[in-house]
Formats: sequence, C-alpha cells, structure tokens
Amino acid sequence: MDLGIAGRTALVTAASKGLGRATAEALAAEGVNVTICARHGDDLARAAATIREAGAGTGAGVHAVVADVTERDAPARLVAETVARFGALHIVVANCGGPPPGRALDLDDEAILAAVNANLLTTVRLVREAVPHLRSAGWGRIVAITSTAVKQPIPTLSLSNTARTGLWAWAKTAAQDLARDHVTLNLLCPGLHGTDRLRSLGVPEGAGLGDPADFGKVAAFLCSAAAAFVSGSAILVDGGATLGLL
Ligand code: NAP
Repeated sequence: MDLGIAGRTALVTAASKGLGRATAEALAAEGVNVTICARHGDDLARAAATIREAGAGTGAGVHAVVADVTERDAPARLVAETVARFGALHIVVANCGGPPPGRALDLDDEAILAAVNANLLTTVRLVREAVPHLRSAGWGRIVAITSTAVKQPIPTLSLSNTARTGLWAWAKTAAQDLARDHVTLNLLCPGLHGTDRLRSLGVPEGAGLGDPADFGKVAAFLCSAAAAFVSGSAILVDGGATLGLL
C-alpha cells in the first residue's frame, strides 16, 4: 500500500521487539526513514536488520540508538539524533515497556510514580521535544502505543490503567493544540498480541492473539497522508475484544 509518506522521517521508541518493531517495519516498508531505540544493544541491532530488510528497495534509512526512553534526557537526545541523522522529523511513535501487573489496592507510591514516568511522562517529553520539528515541517503524525485499558480498565493491570488514562486525557487536549499545525496525535490501543510482553504476563500462546505485523500496519496508516483528519482518537486494535462503548 502506498501511504504517501515515502521520504518522511520517524522516531519509534522501544522498538527492538513486539509492537514497536512491527510499527518500525511497517513504516520502513513505506519508505520512511526510522530511528529506533531500546535498552539492549544486541536485540536492537537484530531489529535494525529486520527493519532494513522491510524497507529494502524503498530508500528508507534505519538508525538504531541504545537508550532507556524513561530517562529524563532520553527523549531530547533521541529527537536530536534523528534530526542530525536524517535532517528532519515528521512522525513520532511513542512506545515504552508496560508496567508490572498489580491490583489497585496493592500499589505503593514508588510503583505508581514509575508507571506514570514510563507510560505518561515519557510520551509527553517526546512530544514536547518533537513538536518544534513537526511544526517547522508543517506536517506531523504522533501515535502513542497504549492499551485497551484506556477504554476498559483491566483489574490486574492497575498501573497501566492509571498511567495510560492520564496520558489519554492529556492527549485529548494536546491534539487540539496541534491541529492548526497539521499535526495529528492519536492513541493506539492494542488488545492481546503475540509479543514478549504478553508472555511475561503469562498469557498462553495460541488462538486469539493478534499478529504484531497487523498492529504495525494500522500504526503506519495513522501516520499516513490519508489519516490527516484523524486526531484526538484512541483507536482499538483488539479484534473486537473490548466491550466498552466509548
Ligand atoms: P515487548 O514485546 O515486551 O517489547 C517491548 C520493547 O520495548 C522491547 O524492544 C524493549 O527492549 C523496549 N523497551 C522496554 N522498556 C524500554 C525502555 N525503558 N526504553 C527503551 N526501550 C524499552 O512489548 P509489546 O508487547 O510490544 O508492548 C509494547 C507496549 O504495548 C507496552 O507498553 C505494552 O504494555 C503495551 N501493550 C501490549 C499489548 C500486547 O498485546 N502485546 C497489549 C496491551 C498493551 P529493551 O528491553 O531492550 O529495552
């Protein structure tokens, strides 16, 4: 599919595995230059190779940066490295590892603060650093990878519920502030996809899990020229599993 974004440049964080990597692959296949990051260099190098393969023949470049995106200065460094490498920034896919499981009454302050840092503040910092570049390009797409928990809280994932709904509220108003700059901002809400995260939570392999590649294609569409009027939305990619009506 030609999404009309060949030659654009994207930053996809937390992208050596799972949904982040699938998104970077889908963007590279469209001819988008991609900067990716993760904490472990070996996995990151392997991911860079598969993303290069996905973009083969399109002219897409791939730049891999070892970084913990939750560290205070990482978003600024990642944005600066992307612009230095590719000369511009048009697309940000803000992703981070998910917080540990836990029920609402069992959470201590430290766990809540860590989840808010990783799954809310990190995205806010990435957007803040990226927006001047998107504005100067006069075009931008921002997608935050979150969870169906923003629509329907998951009782055993209370940290995820708490941090991600805060991000959703923030994104709703930020999207309005960005509209005049032709920059869209949306949340993508994965259901159950077959990734390491799901395995770490003990979700059994087998029928019913989504393919991360299908998630990546939806993310790439949200970053496309055609998705210009989709903003301030939280879009489920869950095969219809969530029953909430909002
Ligand atoms: P995954 O398969 O475990 O992959 C996580 C990726 O993020 C890895 O590349 C990991 O590499 C990187 N990462 C984790 N923490 C990082 C950090 N602090 N800084 C930089 N990179 C980091 O996870 P996933 O299933 O793709 O999930 C992605 C997001 O979607 C998570 O927030 C998850 O909670 C959410 N989600 C996933 C599902 C699902 O079905 N998979 C459902 C709902 C929500 P390193 O470890 O090397 O850093």
